[in-house]
Amino acid sequence: MKIIVAKTAGFCWGVSRAIDLVMKAANEGHSPIYTDGALIHNPQVLKVLEESEIHVSSNIDNVSEGTIAIRAHGITPERRTHLKEKGLKIVDATCPHVGGIQGIVKKHTHEGYSIVIVGERGHPEVIGLLGFTQGRGYLIDVDEDIERMPELPPNKVCIVAQSTQSRARLHEVTEKVRQIYPNALMFDTLCDVTADRQDEILEMAKEVDLMIVVGGKNSGNTQRMAELSREAGVRTFHIETEDEISASDVEGSQLIGLTAGASTPDWMIKRVYQKLENIAQNLIPVTV
Ligand code: SF4
Repeated sequence: MKIIVAKTAGFCWGVSRAIDLVMKAANEGHSPIYTDGALIHNPQVLKVLEESEIHVSSNIDNVSEGTIAIRAHGITPERRTHLKEKGLKIVDATCPHVGGIQGIVKKHTHEGYSIVIVGERGHPEVIGLLGFTQGRGYLIDVDEDIERMPELPPNKVCIVAQSTQSRARLHEVTEKVRQIYPNALMFDTLCDVTADRQDEILEMAKEVDLMIVVGGKNSGNTQRMAELSREAGVRTFHIETEDEISASDVEGSQLIGLTAGASTPDWMIKRVYQKLENIAQNLIPVTV
């Protein structure tokens, strides 16, 4: 049994930056730090952060001391104003790539455009982006959302995507929106980190007979990676920790692909790798 590890597995630069920023604030004595929602979608990392007094706050309105951290997904301008009014120290860990999408939305909203966002309903990044549209933002999660859009000024439609959407989905929605608004502008706002991971998993799927995808069960980008692998016809496990893998799961596999979502730390990937190696060493070779 052989294991190949994806080159793109593990933290993306936006998540690394967010964690570095909050850890720096903690080390400089600004604890307790409260993140406005989960900093990243990975329960194991959140547990480690808790040990440095970095807590997830489900209701930041109740926080009256310490520091508030804005997560990588970003927030609406109203929410930012509200947090500032609390008078507490703020650590802004909004990913610069997401900040760039917010900038495009803000600029085009000011120029009178209606903004079509290709994304996932309820995702914090999408909620943040909609906050920049002055009520002229339309989320396209499923195709029916296109039919539900009101009639828009024809030459003032701008399409962007949540950073972790697939390129195929962005182009599919753009084509459908342009059937109604042929002059609609489109900005490819996808983060290459996501596209590179998706490309690599599809390449690996051509070779491996089992794929292990490590990452938070609530992480959208990790879920999509596992879906892609399954769609490519490979037996796939989406796990958070090494405890979810047993010898019977991997028995009979010749080549295992190991990859991880953007919010999975290297130490967790190493633990899973180690567990797979231990299983491989203990498997009794089949003799004919
Ligand atoms: S996936 Fe891309 S956009 Fe999202 S946090 Fe990472 S670097 Fe930023």
